[in-house]
Amino acid sequence: MYPGDADLLRAVNLLAEQLPAPLQPLARLAYNYRWCWEPDASSVFEEVNPNRWRVVGQNPVAMLAGTLRSTLEWAATSPKLVERVRDLAGRVDADLTREPMMRSLQPEHPVAFFCSEFGVHSSLPLYSGGLGVLAGDILKEASDMGLPMVAVGLLYQYGYFHQRTDPSGYQQEYWIESDPKRLPVVAVSGSDGRPLRVTVPVHDLELQVQVWRADIGRVPLYLLDTNLAENPPMGRWVTARLYDGSRAIRLAQYALLGLGGVRALRAMGVEPSVYHLNEGHPALGAFEVERLIRAEGGSSDDVWDEVRQRFVFTTHTPVYAGNETYHRDEIMQMLGAVAQLAGGEERFLALGRSNPDDANEPSGLTPLAIRAARSVNAVSARHGGVARAMWQQMFPGRAVEDVPITHVTNGVHVATWMQRPMRELLDRHLGAGWLAHADDPLTWAGVEQIPDDEIWAARTALRHHMIDELRGRITFDRLRRADPIELALAAERALDGDLLTIGYARRIASYKRLHLIYGDPVRARAMMESEHPVQLLTAGKAHPMDDGAKRIVQAMFQIATPRPSSYRRLGGRGAFIEDYDMALASLLVSGCDVWINIPRPPQEASGTSGMKVAYNGGLNLSVLDGWWCEAYDGRNGWAIDGDVDPDEASQDARHAGSLFELLEQQVIPTFNERDERGIPTRWVQMVKHSLMTIGPRFSATRMVREYETRIYPQEPLSPRS
Ligand SMILES: *Cc1c(COP(=O)(O)O)cnc(C)c1O
Repeated sequence: MYPGDADLLRAVNLLAEQLPAPLQPLARLAYNYRWCWEPDASSVFEEVNPNRWRVVGQNPVAMLAGTLRSTLEWAATSPKLVERVRDLAGRVDADLTREPMMRSLQPEHPVAFFCSEFGVHSSLPLYSGGLGVLAGDILKEASDMGLPMVAVGLLYQYGYFHQRTDPSGYQQEYWIESDPKRLPVVAVSGSDGRPLRVTVPVHDLELQVQVWRADIGRVPLYLLDTNLAENPPMGRWVTARLYDGSRAIRLAQYALLGLGGVRALRAMGVEPSVYHLNEGHPALGAFEVERLIRAEGGSSDDVWDEVRQRFVFTTHTPVYAGNETYHRDEIMQMLGAVAQLAGGEERFLALGRSNPDDANEPSGLTPLAIRAARSVNAVSARHGGVARAMWQQMFPGRAVEDVPITHVTNGVHVATWMQRPMRELLDRHLGAGWLAHADDPLTWAGVEQIPDDEIWAARTALRHHMIDELRGRITFDRLRRADPIELALAAERALDGDLLTIGYARRIASYKRLHLIYGDPVRARAMMESEHPVQLLTAGKAHPMDDGAKRIVQAMFQIATPRPSSYRRLGGRGAFIEDYDMALASLLVSGCDVWINIPRPPQEASGTSGMKVAYNGGLNLSVLDGWWCEAYDGRNGWAIDGDVDPDEASQDARHAGSLFELLEQQVIPTFNERDERGIPTRWVQMVKHSLMTIGPRFSATRMVREYETRIYPQEPLSPRS
């Protein structure tokens, strides 16, 4: 049904040939990430070859292709495993072949979803953080809903960096090369049977581009790649790293994604009904669509109107300076040829400015995306207001509230983020098929009736699982840094699956203010040492060029890692865990009891990790910014005021005070107040209330339905004057 079907089938068959007959369904499973949101799938692959599964980072193609024939044959002698394989494959096949519900969009004209990063699973390292994970969740949900969608991104040979800290806690970066032949991706062939090629002009090159396909359920994700022998080294580097450190290379990446993406879809015969730009990076695609419309005879004055009919844009960056801009010379050096295709240098640069007439203003992709799209949306209600004020200058004469930017609040893919004990609990109590109605409050009403001890048992199981997994990992982190042996051993001794566990993990940028909790180390340590001690788990990557953020990582590291004089007493009840990625996120958002988020308002566009926590029965303690403004109702978590205060130092001090007060006076006592069965009943009430109020409103089901009904449908073209 989509380009690359034959290539996928060939790859599946090649892999299946290497497997004993009873395990052959695994080859089909391996080449479609649909498995990763079946709760038991990972353990099925793991059972084939546990060690290899871990070493290859849960990449099923690499695991199967790298397992000895004798090991595979041994695995195939287990009737239990063979039955699990058959059962899993049956469920996935049934999902992929079921008749989708009737939709307003026709399958022949899918939504084309463009993004510079996609976080689908930790084994496909094409994401850095929230933007990519959200994009991955959208694809999965589109698959579940049967919404016709294709996605376009880049295949980065080295992905995003990995993080390691030196003994002082200062961040070091390293990159791991991935081999596309060992990823669940296939090269798409053209009609001549040879790998499809498109070209994109960059600098003085005609970049040769290859197209790969990864399947995310029913949604094909097409990934562009310039690492080809035909390209000179600079050209090959364009798809080396996500958000490359060189501004020039980033410009080349944006041309590749936007222009190259539209060209690739066209070369494959895909005719989208709408192009969804997720963040501004792919906006240059608008110029290519314009060129196509012109080539098909569009007349010159209303062509841009037609372009606008085909694009929608989601903005994620609520800070003006976060929307990268470039000077004329930088742009023309890399994108001179693109500018010529786009109607010449002056027009090209003008469309990227908030004020097109101000020749001194640098150009960026966000203003271009806003101009190219018939619908622009922010990602939470509060972010909508921030975005309208921020871009008002592009709409002279309009009041802030009339700036045409709406919002679709983010949501998370529940089947991906809700971990097993909670999923099984809700499967038992909410009835079969409840997930398909995750956006209906009635679906969640049944949570009220779940016995407290069952909720508590699921929470306890999730916390224990996380601590068990992290003990080893933290010990190894410490041994690798050659930390004192007693400190290394402390992780094993002192981390405790029954203690109140507070988590705190995300991309480290100064506006996220992760330093607040460390601003008062005496108070933080007192909490870890008290009669009812808490554990503090933190993680997050700083941008490689952001020294300030790296110093925050270091500060987090130093408090979370007790100094030699105190680790005996503290027992090491805090840890900074290196290399935050989706796998670590899964553990932390499911195992932590409380999730802290203290961005400087109003700079959090939405935030999604707190939603993942809520779906696992964890509670949020957050500044009232982004999604939490919409979610918090006074009883489903804790809140710190979200006022904007120009005096940052005093706001920081106030917020740090509120944070500690809430922890000391509410969170810790509520968690430790137990009934005769040892159950913290008030806490469990809050968990239930959190599930019932957040459950229906922050799922990807609600989010994608909003895109489907409010954003994608095209208004009939107004009659031209
Ligand atoms: C969900 C997620 C994020 C986004 O977290 P925020 O709360 O939006 O900052 C970032 N990284 C990973 C790995 C995630 O899974």
